Amino acid sequence: MGSMITPQPGIMEIALYQGGKSEIAGRSDVLKLSSNENPLGPPPSAIAAITAAATETHRYPSTDHAGLRAAISDVYGLEADRVICGVGSDEVLQFICQAFTGPGDEIIHTEHGFSMYPILAHMAGATPVQVAEVDRQVSVDNILAAVTERTRVVMLTNPGNPTGTIIPESEIERLADGLPKGVILVLDCAYIEYAAGHDGGEALARSRENVIMTRTFSKLYGLGGLRIGFGYGPKALIDVMTRIRQPYNLSVVQLVAAEAAALDLEWAKTSVEMNASERARLTCGLRQQGIACDDSHTNFVLARFADEGEAAAMETAFQAAGILVRKVGGYGFPEGLRITVGRPEDNDRVLDAVAKFKDAS
Ligand code: PMP
Repeated sequence: MGSMITPQPGIMEIALYQGGKSEIAGRSDVLKLSSNENPLGPPPSAIAAITAAATETHRYPSTDHAGLRAAISDVYGLEADRVICGVGSDEVLQFICQAFTGPGDEIIHTEHGFSMYPILAHMAGATPVQVAEVDRQVSVDNILAAVTERTRVVMLTNPGNPTGTIIPESEIERLADGLPKGVILVLDCAYIEYAAGHDGGEALARSRENVIMTRTFSKLYGLGGLRIGFGYGPKALIDVMTRIRQPYNLSVVQLVAAEAAALDLEWAKTSVEMNASERARLTCGLRQQGIACDDSHTNFVLARFADEGEAAAMETAFQAAGILVRKVGGYGFPEGLRITVGRPEDNDRVLDAVAKFKDAS
C-alpha cells in the first residue's frame, strides 16, 4: 500500500540544486573557481567583527536588522525601510515567490537565468515559465510575449549567470513599462558591482510600485559562507515580505559581518579593480587559445568550447591540474565551462592548464 502522506503540489518537480564542487579527492592544492567567490577571501573588517561578536552569541540577534539596514542605506543611499535582509539573496527571492505567488500563478525566468528560480517557484506551488534568450542575451520582447494573466513575477538575472552578459538599463525600463502593473519585476543583481557603468536598473527599484532589486554579500563582499543578501523595493511590497520573514533569520554573526563588509568601501574597490584587470586578461588568454567567450560583466567568464566532448575533456584536464570550474550543461551550455576570475596567480594556473590541453589535443 502506498504512503498516505503526499507532499504539497509542485514539490516533487524540484530538481535538487547542484552547488559548485569544492574538493578533488587526494589533493590539497585545489584552486576553487566553481562558485564565483571573491578570491581575496572575506574582508579583514568582517573577520574582526565576527571575532568580536563571538562573545555575544548567547544573545538573540536583532529582529529588525536595524544596524545592517542602516549601513546598507548609508552606503547605497537607500531608505532603510525599503530594505529587507535574508539568508543570502536566495531567501529574499524566496520571500518574493512565497508572498506573491501560489498555485495557478506563473513566474517567468529566462533561459539561462539562475537555477534557483524554478525551485523557488515550485516551493511556492507556482509554475516556472522559461523564456528563450537570443545569442546569450535576455530578450525583453520574448519576456513580454510570454506574459499571461497568470504571470505574477518576472525574474531577471542581470548581469546573467552563467552568460556574464548585461541588459542595458534602457531595455530594463522598456520591460518595466511593458509589464502589467500587477506583475513584480525582480532585478537579481548578484553581480552588478562588477559591471562597470551599469546599475542594473536601480532607479526603477526606487521609483516603481512593482520593481524589487536583490543583492548579495556572497560575491564581491566575500561572505558566501555566511549567507547574507538583501532586497530593495517599494515599501508596500517590503512590508508584505517582512511578514513571512522569520524574526531571527540572520544570526548575530551574519549581521555584524555584513555590516562591516558593507562599510568596507576600500575592500570592495580593491576587489572590483583586481577582477576587472584579471577578467580582461583571462578573457583575452582564452580567446588566444581559440576558446569563445563573450565580454563578461561579472566575476566569471563563460568559456565555450567546440562541443560537449571538448568541454568535458577540458574539465578533466583542469581537475588534473587541481582546478575546479563549473560545468554549465544544466544551464543550457553543454559546451560551456564557467570559470571564476581568480587572483593573478590563479588565472596563470588556468591559462597554463588551457595551453597544455590545447597543445596536447
Ligand atoms: N542570483 C544569482 C544570479 C546567483 O548566481 C546567486 C548565487 N549563485 C544568487 C542569486 C544567490 O546568491 P546568495 O543566496 O548567495 O546571495
